[in-house]
Amino acid sequence: MMDEKICAIEGCNEPASKEVDRSFLPFIQELKLRLKEEPGKKIPLCRRHYKMVKQVRDAQLSRF
Ligand SMILES: [Zn+2]
Repeated sequence: MMDEKICAIEGCNEPASKEVDRSFLPFIQELKLRLKEEPGKKIPLCRRHYKMVKQVRDAQLSRF
């Protein structure tokens, strides 16, 4: 069996459905979410947290 990745957000134990890179860190911080540990190159996120972070990212990108 493949080892299943778990969401990197503290307090969340959902399986990760996406991995994002470190450019997403500011958006994670903006949501006041904490990571369980220092992120590596890729940050696994569950579906719910990925959606939240992506919303913030899209909102910021659309300002330009
Ligand atoms: Zn999560």
